[in-house]
This record gives sequence, structure tokens and C-alpha cells, in this order.
Amino acid sequence: MIIFNHFKDLQFYIKNEVNPKKKIGLVPTMGALHEGHFSLIENCNNKADFTICSIFVNPLQFNNEEDFKKYPQTLERDIKALKQLECDALILPSFEEMYPDKNLEKKHYALGYLENILEGKFRPGHFQGVCMAVERLLLMVDPDILFIGQKDFQQCMVIKKLINLMGKNIELVICPTLREQNGLAMSSRNLRLSKEEKETASSINQSLQFIKEKISTLNFLQLKEEAIDNLESLGLQVEYLELAKADDLELVTNYDGNHQHVILIAAYLNEVRLIDNQLIAKTKY
Ligand code: AMP
Repeated sequence: MIIFNHFKDLQFYIKNEVNPKKKIGLVPTMGALHEGHFSLIENCNNKADFTICSIFVNPLQFNNEEDFKKYPQTLERDIKALKQLECDALILPSFEEMYPDKNLEKKHYALGYLENILEGKFRPGHFQGVCMAVERLLLMVDPDILFIGQKDFQQCMVIKKLINLMGKNIELVICPTLREQNGLAMSSRNLRLSKEEKETASSINQSLQFIKEKISTLNFLQLKEEAIDNLESLGLQVEYLELAKADDLELVTNYDGNHQHVILIAAYLNEVRLIDNQLIAKTKY
């Protein structure tokens, strides 16, 4: 695996060493890599000819400074794992490399209502920050295929929208969420949880499963109340627990079976913010 710090070096390498007919795949990450990230790399290895991983802890997408400061960094371990996975290239851009233009504030992406609901509502500016980083990566790396995780469901929609806004022809591959044995969605932030907290945090997924099982016969709002009561009794603080249509993220209060739906949750366990989601297939055709 070749490690680059500058986009121009990566571009030079691709231009000179990678056959233009080969498909370039990009897996953007913020590091502290876990098996969820590895599955994206493996998907990329399978589908693309040249796999590029990026690691950049993007300050612009953190609306909470403490969260940014405490974001886990395990670069040496990440590099070792990526080499083992036979990732072809790793780009480690600096802040200046990512944001050479000093007028950061001026840019605004027209994300519509996606910006103001769920993650957007509770993390103002978050998706603008995500778009800043992803746009720069897409422009500099120019991949044919982009691999992202369903774990960040709303982010997947935002990135789809960004690709449209950029007028780029990039295939988007959304990979399933990898989980710990107890069902907890893998996340870099899990490194900040103790063993006991990880057990408690697994109740997030259990609540999603509980709602999924009952939603075709019981009222969502009642199920939501029951799930929140249960999670809060275990010491979690639920920020939101919502039901939406999976294709456009329109928030709804009832599952009608006519569309694929998704249940989305964000909750704090002590200082650590965790998100997860669960798809519910449609039953009527
Ligand atoms: P992050 O480093 O958290 O920004 O994540 C980088 C990419 O990995 C994003 O596309 C995430 O959606 C994806 N990802 C994070 N956690 C998981 C997981 N548990 N399973 C699959 N993909 C994940």
C-alpha cells in the first residue's frame, strides 16, 4: 500500500501507474478503523480495480468541540490493517490540503430538508461539513465508485444528493452495517465505551429490533414511547427515535407496508453519542 499526504502525488501516481480503464474505488473514513470500515475496503477490493482509503478527521463536521478532541485516533494500527487488507493506497490529507480555500464559510450545499431533520436538527452544520470534505475528496481522487456505510443512513442520502449537485457520474455503493456480537453497531466512538457500557449500548439495536418486529401490528408512536422508556431506564438519553420512508427520509408516524421504511435513532450513553438504524421492508406490492 502506498501512503500519500498530498492529492497531487496521488493524482500523479494514478495517472502514471494505473491503467485508465481500471475502476478506482474510494472509501472515505475518519480513521480508528474497525471491521465496519474493513468491510467497505473488502467491498471496494471486490468491485473496483484500485482501492483508495482516505483518513481525515474532519473538524468541520463536528458541532461539538469535545467530541472532536476526543475522537479516537489509531493511525499506526489503521495502516497495518489496511496493508493486511491489501488496500492499494491511503491518502492522509492535512487540513490545509483538504481546505486550501480560506473562504470556508461561503460555501453552502442545497441539501433541502435533509439538513434540518434528525442528524441535521441535532447537529447543526454537520452535513455542510460532511459535504465540504466529501466534495474535496471526490474532486481530488476522482473515483468511479464510492463506498459508504448504511450505518450513517442520512449521510448516505446527503452524499447521494451531493453527487447530484456536483453533476458527477460516480457509482455509490452502500454497504450493510457491521455489528458487534451483541448487536451494537460498530463505530469508532465505541472505543470510548467500557465493556459494561457496550453491553448497555447494545439495547439500542435491541430497541430497533423490538420496534421492527411489532410495527406491522402495533402503533409506532406507542412502540417509540415504550422503547424510549426502556432505553432511558438503562441510562441512555435518546435524542431522537423516528420512523421514515427509506427512499426520501420523509418522517412518518405510521408504517403502512407500501414503502420500505427505516427506523433511526440517536442516543447518548454518558458522553458518547451513538446512532443506528434498521430498515423495514415493504409488505404490500
Ligand atoms: P467514519 O470513519 O465513521 O466516518 O466512517 C467511514 C465510513 O464507514 C462511513 O461510510 C460509515 O458509514 C462507514 N461505517 C461506519 N461504521 C460502520 C459499520 N458499523 N458498518 C459498516 N460501515 C460503517
